[in-house]
Amino acid sequence: MSFFCLKVVETLIVGSGVSGLASAIRQARKGRIVKVIEKSHTYGGKMGEINSKGFRFDTGPSLFTMPNYVTELLDEAHKNEFNYTQLENLCTYFFPDQTKFVAKSNINSFLEDASIFFKTPKKDIEAFLKKSENIYDITAPIFLQNSLHKLKTYLSKDGLKGILNLWQIEMFKTMNNKLESSFDNEKLIQLFNRYATYNGSNPYVAPATLHVIPHLEFKYGAYLPKNGIRDIANILYKQAKSLGVQFQFNTQVIGSTLKNNNIQTVETSSGAQLKCDVLISAVDAKITYQNILKRNLPKKILNAENSSSALIFYWGIGKIFPEIDIHNIFFSKEYQEEFDAIFNSKKLQKDPTVYIHTTQPINPKDAPDGKQNWFVMINTGYNRGQNWNELIKEARKKILDKISISLKEDIEPLIEFEDILSPILIEKITGSNKGSLYGSSSNDRMSAFFRQANFSNDIKNLYFCGGSVHPGGGIPLCLLSASIVDKLIPNANR
Ligand SMILES: Cc1cc2nc3c(=O)[nH]c(=O)nc-3n(C[C@H](O)[C@H](O)[C@H](O)COP(=O)(O)OP(=O)(O)OC[C@H]3O[C@@H](n4cnc5c(N)ncnc54)[C@H](O)[C@@H]3O)c2cc1C
Repeated sequence: MSFFCLKVVETLIVGSGVSGLASAIRQARKGRIVKVIEKSHTYGGKMGEINSKGFRFDTGPSLFTMPNYVTELLDEAHKNEFNYTQLENLCTYFFPDQTKFVAKSNINSFLEDASIFFKTPKKDIEAFLKKSENIYDITAPIFLQNSLHKLKTYLSKDGLKGILNLWQIEMFKTMNNKLESSFDNEKLIQLFNRYATYNGSNPYVAPATLHVIPHLEFKYGAYLPKNGIRDIANILYKQAKSLGVQFQFNTQVIGSTLKNNNIQTVETSSGAQLKCDVLISAVDAKITYQNILKRNLPKKILNAENSSSALIFYWGIGKIFPEIDIHNIFFSKEYQEEFDAIFNSKKLQKDPTVYIHTTQPINPKDAPDGKQNWFVMINTGYNRGQNWNELIKEARKKILDKISISLKEDIEPLIEFEDILSPILIEKITGSNKGSLYGSSSNDRMSAFFRQANFSNDIKNLYFCGGSVHPGGGIPLCLLSASIVDKLIPNANR
């Protein structure tokens, strides 16, 4: 190495996505000297932002649930600064027969409306959601809130209760099987099957345990920060800075040295060697193994199926569509065929389900007067060598045709600004393995056990958090991973 300088920090964190920021705050609160190394010029990782021609877009996550996992990280001053609104409607669903259903966030209104629209007894929908709640109560202490890989998780009161009740969590049925045995109405089945996409899975193979997701959305609601999702990263960054966390941007971690089964130093792209007591990797697990540890990935992680990815078009639209809500889904006709294509083929699905998200109705400053910022997304396979240039062209045409028919207006001439994010770019920008949005999928009933644990088995001072490790991808689970890591790091290290 041409340049050698040894600097000491107590906790070194690689990556400043939402889990890296949360870990930094938690570590700094313990009074530790914390430094975050980030390869990009800014913090937030997938929680990026585009500002152009008067339009503002969040580039990654659009759905924000369980804001308590953010606010519990903030002191009073930062809590007061972080404003967010609860959404009245969870999502507006447009079906291929041109009918439309608005899913209200108020559970009683949802049950009333759904019972009428889907011609299904209210008590059946209520019973389905009650079952989802039951599964959540059993699984949360084992699968979400603690390390799945530590004995003490199973020996706690909640852990033991969870184990005794595991037979109730429906891991031997698929999500779709469970829905078909609960309801006759195909549109209602499609609506609940869609929740598999919240962690990049396929409802026709993923276990029915994943029906916990709608329970969480109905119980805790969906939210939008006043200045968009990017505001979550902004407030966490500010909180971390106010606690003394040091950030080094435009710097990649490219290696490490070990002594007595401990990481002793990490090597950065700027030529520095940083010594640390504890290393928290908040980047994709594959990057940790390949780029930082220079080791092969453990087989179980290597063999786990990746989650789906996505193609996103950021469109500045020269008109306001009052029927476009914050979250909108334009469903495909053949949902199972769509998931088959996403997971098993290199081709684009024939009829993609289209998701449109706009923040303009709540945050009008996100678009010029009389215009809307549209985040338009379809789920795709993770990158396995597809011809993305061709697929982008094909997808753009299919999306425009589909929404133009539904909205009864030619959308293409209204596009005043366009940017595009593909699986290849997601991988390039944030390091996500094969551009997957959520690490590995939950398509296998054992998939929770195939994720990287939050600690290393043989390197004593190495911990893992973020969307590719336990308990999973998405903002709330990434924040939980930081909380689990915090519980695992012994205070005695200080
Ligand atoms: C298009 C899209 C839509 C999504 N929609 C939702 C949604 O609606 N709701 C939801 O909850 N979740 C959603 N997600 C998932 C969610 O964004 C992620 O699970 C979460 O943001 C991941 O955070 P993370 O902390 O794991 O790190 P990431 O955001 O992946 O960030 C990792 C950081 O590490 C840095 N890095 C990588 N390698 C190195 C290195 N060697 N050295 C230094 N730095 C490095 C990267 O530059 C990056 O900043 C979506 C994701 C995408 C892409």
